[in-house]
Order: sequence, then C-alpha cells, then structure tokens
Amino acid sequence: MKFGTKAIHAGVSPDLSTGAIMTPIFQTSTYVQKSPGDHLGYEYSRTHNPTRTALQNSLAALENGKHGICFSSGLGAIDAVVKLFNPGDEIISTNDLYGGTYRLFTKVFERYGIKFHFVPMDKPETIASHVNEKTKMIWVETPTNPMMNIIDIKAVSEVAKKHGLILAVDNTFASPFLQNPLDLGADIVMHSVTKYLGGHSDVVMGALVVNDDELASKLVFLQNACGATPGPQDCFLVLRGIKTLHLRMERHCQNGKTIAAFLKNHPKISKVYWPGFEDHPNHSIAKSQMRDFGGMISFTLVGNKLEDAKKVMENLHLFALAESLGGVESLCGHPASMTHASIPKEEREKVGLVDSLIRLSVGVEDAEDLKNDLAQALAKI
Ligand SMILES: *Cc1c(COP(=O)(O)O)cnc(C)c1O
Repeated sequence: MKFGTKAIHAGVSPDLSTGAIMTPIFQTSTYVQKSPGDHLGYEYSRTHNPTRTALQNSLAALENGKHGICFSSGLGAIDAVVKLFNPGDEIISTNDLYGGTYRLFTKVFERYGIKFHFVPMDKPETIASHVNEKTKMIWVETPTNPMMNIIDIKAVSEVAKKHGLILAVDNTFASPFLQNPLDLGADIVMHSVTKYLGGHSDVVMGALVVNDDELASKLVFLQNACGATPGPQDCFLVLRGIKTLHLRMERHCQNGKTIAAFLKNHPKISKVYWPGFEDHPNHSIAKSQMRDFGGMISFTLVGNKLEDAKKVMENLHLFALAESLGGVESLCGHPASMTHASIPKEEREKVGLVDSLIRLSVGVEDAEDLKNDLAQALAKI
C-alpha cells in the first residue's frame, strides 16, 4: 500500500462485535477471564489495550516497520530506549538536540552512569572518532531544532553497522510522511506523536517503531515494566489524526515553501533556515532522504535585536506564540527565550541560535493569509 492508503487503513479494522467502522475507545483497565489464563489476549491495560494495539500497528505500517510501541509522551519513549543500556555504557548523540532529550540524557541518565557524547554529525567520520568499546548507540535528530540542519541517516547507519551499534533516529520534525529512517538503515525510529502524527495540538504521546523482534520485545518489556503508556482516549485521537497525515503534510510542505520564499525576499530578514532552499548546506541530503521539505522554518532579523523579534511575535495574529509544532494551526516560537533558554548565550550563538531567531511551524491555513500576517507584523519594526 502507498502512504495515503496506509494512513487510512493500516492497523485498523471494523470492530468484530458491532461492525463499528472506527476503532472504539476501549476505556477499560482490565478484561474478564473465563478461567485463570483463559482470555482473549488482553489482561490489563498497562500491558495491552485494543485501541492502543490498533494505533501501534498503524504507526508501524507508516514507518515501514514491524513493531510499533506507544508511550505517554515522546520523552517517555526516549526514556525506554536509554533503559536498554547499563551503567558504564556510552551513547553518541547529535549536538544540536531537542532540549528535553538533552535534559533527560544529562540530568537523569548521567546520574545512573550512562555517558553521552554530543557531537556534530555533518561529517560521519566525526562520529567514528568517539566510538570505543563501551559505545552502544548513536542518537540522531534530523532535521534539527531550530537550525534545520540535516544529518545523512544512511551515512551514519554505515558507521553504526561497522561498529555494531544501535542507530536511533528522532523522526518528529519530518514525520513518517517525509522520511522513513528504518529504510535508511536505522534500528529504532522515535516520534513525539504530540506533533505531526497527532496533528491537532490536543494530545501528548510518544512512539517507537522497530523491525528487529528481539529489540521489540525488550522495548515492549520496558513499556509494561516502567508503565509510561498512553490512555485509550489519546490513542483514539491519534488514530483519527493519522487518517489525514498525508493531506496535512502536503499542505504543510506547500505552505512551507511559499512562506520560506516570502521570508527570503523580505528586506527586514537576514537569514532563513529551511532545507528546501538549494543553497541550504545540506540540501542534497535533504532531497535524497526526504520526500519534501516540510513546514518548519527559522529566520533571523536584520540588526539582530531581541526587541524587534519580540515585537514581530507580539504582532502576529494567525501564528500563535506557543511551544510545540506540527498542528494544523500555525505557531511561532522564540528558541533563545523558550525552548533553548537553558543553553548559555555564547553556546547558542555559536550554532546561529541568536536573539532575533524566530521559529515557525507553518500550519495548513491559506498561505496568502499567513503571508499577510507575517507582512503586517514585520511592518511594525
Ligand atoms: C516535542 C519533541 C520531543 C519530546 O516529545 P514530548 O511528546 O513533548 O515528550 C522529542 N523530540 C522532538 C524533536 C520534539 O519536537
């Protein structure tokens, strides 16, 4: 099946007891057994729930994987991945990383004796120089947030294979519509389902998709043993969101292209970060591993003044100022004071994350209205 057909049909089938075409919300914690151990495959909802099963199968299909495993948040999913390892083990991670992942790695798992190396991954050779006998996993995020750098998943997977390491890719920014890391050699794909998969800013959830049966059974064990599982109502909402993922993503990409071009030609804007530009440093990798370039865009203002950035964001009406991304509505954010405030200013500025940098999650509204909104806000500075 092609992507749009999978988005609508994979993993779901009409309810056997009623014929309900949509997977019901199985709002139950437990299941009746005829005799001890004689049940229909469901015993307790932390372990299994039919609404969750349908969603997990749908997610696996979208990522061309065998096993989908859902968690109560994206960070819950990452937490399970790191728990595959033991004190003394080492993990090599992208340096330009989602702040919450960085916090989980350094503030939680370093206390348990796991060591992390944060390295730039534009050249895969750099990764190899950090590998030693304790290294167990490479953690990649691409496109990165908010600088929109692209990492070559296939090239990194060759390094991982050569050294016998697990390769995990946080695919949140791309969504399974734009990029399928398992096809490019990754072992684990992670999603903050909260973003494009949910798509409507009404759910917090995470997921992992893998092909390997043994790896899946270890992660399913952790899902049940640690217990960060999503409820059936949230699973239902995501199942509903997924049915329009391909339609939403097409419009996110179209609008992204229109808005990126508009910003690039605007006299008050100094730099626009979007992988669809031919002069983006990783454009050719983006072109080869992604189906399109998405609706996430960052830009900086001429003069680089914090007051100007604030004024633009205060005056945007359709782009709501809020954390998160990937919903149908457009959002704007200020990484230097919001998501990346914990990183020292000098460190931030080294990677281009300056005070006037504004990040947009371009929604699926009419592009003309979004352009007009940006134009009137930029006219205020
Ligand atoms: C939001 C996000 C996460 C964390 O997911 P939650 O669902 O908020 O726990 C991880 N990685 C990326 C790239 C994200 O954008």
